[in-house]
Amino acid sequence: MDSDQVRQYLEFYQDLGFRTLYRRPPAARAAEPDPPGKLMDASLEGQAKACPTENMLQILEDIGDCRRCRLHAGRNKLVFGVGNEHSPLVFVGEGPGADEDAQGIPFVGRAGQLLTQMIEGTARKEGIPLKREDVYICNVVKCRPPENRTPEPDEMEICGQFLARQLLAISPKAICALGGTAARALTGHKEGVTKMRGRWFEWRKIPLLVTYHPSYLLRPYNQDAKREAWEDLKKILHFVYD
Ligand code: URA
Repeated sequence: MDSDQVRQYLEFYQDLGFRTLYRRPPAARAAEPDPPGKLMDASLEGQAKACPTENMLQILEDIGDCRRCRLHAGRNKLVFGVGNEHSPLVFVGEGPGADEDAQGIPFVGRAGQLLTQMIEGTARKEGIPLKREDVYICNVVKCRPPENRTPEPDEMEICGQFLARQLLAISPKAICALGGTAARALTGHKEGVTKMRGRWFEWRKIPLLVTYHPSYLLRPYNQDAKREAWEDLKKILHFVYD
C-alpha cells in the first residue's frame, strides 16, 4: 500500500464516523479533555515501553496490500480494526465474515449487531457511559476465510503478528477474546470455549477474559450461553471502568 492508499484507507474509516485509526501526536492528545470515567486509565506501563513508537498508521502501512497468506485471494476488503485506539478495552474476534469483507469493518453483520448490543446494553445497565466506538474491535485474521471456515494455524500465525502489534500499540487494560479461536490464538490454551469462558488469562501481561463469540449466541439453542456472555461482559466492563 503506498502512502496515498493508506491515506484513502484512513479517510474511508473517518468518513464512517469512527474515531481516528492512527495515534495522533502526543501534543495533540495532551490538549484533549479526558473522557468520562477511567477511560484514560488505560496504559499498562510495561506495554507502552515495549513498543514506544509504533502506531496504527505504521502497522497499516506495513500490512499494505497484504498477500502474505492464501486468504488474500478471496477478499474484497482487508478488515484491519476499528474504534478508539486509546481504548482500555479491546475485543478480538476470529475473522471477517461476508458483511465485514464487503465493508472493510469488523463486526458489522448480525453477530456485530449483537456485539454492539452486548457492549452498549451491559454498559448502560451497569451505569457505565460506553458506546461501541469507545472500544477497539479487531480480529485474529484480517481477511475473510472462504465459506467462513476457521482460519488455519499458519494464517493465524502470519496475521497474528499484526494483531500483536495492534494490541501493543493500544496497550489496553484488558482484552476480551470472542470465541474459542481468538481465545486459543491469544492464550495458547487448547481447551474449548465452554471451559475457557468467564476465566481470566493473560496476553503479554495484559488481562484477557474469554467469552462466547456472538455468532454462537445467535443460535436459538444457546440461550443459556447468552446469559453467561452477559455475565462475562459485566465482569470485564467493571474490571476496566470501575
Ligand atoms: N465474526 C468475527 O469473528 N469477526 C467479525 O468481524 C465478524 C464476524
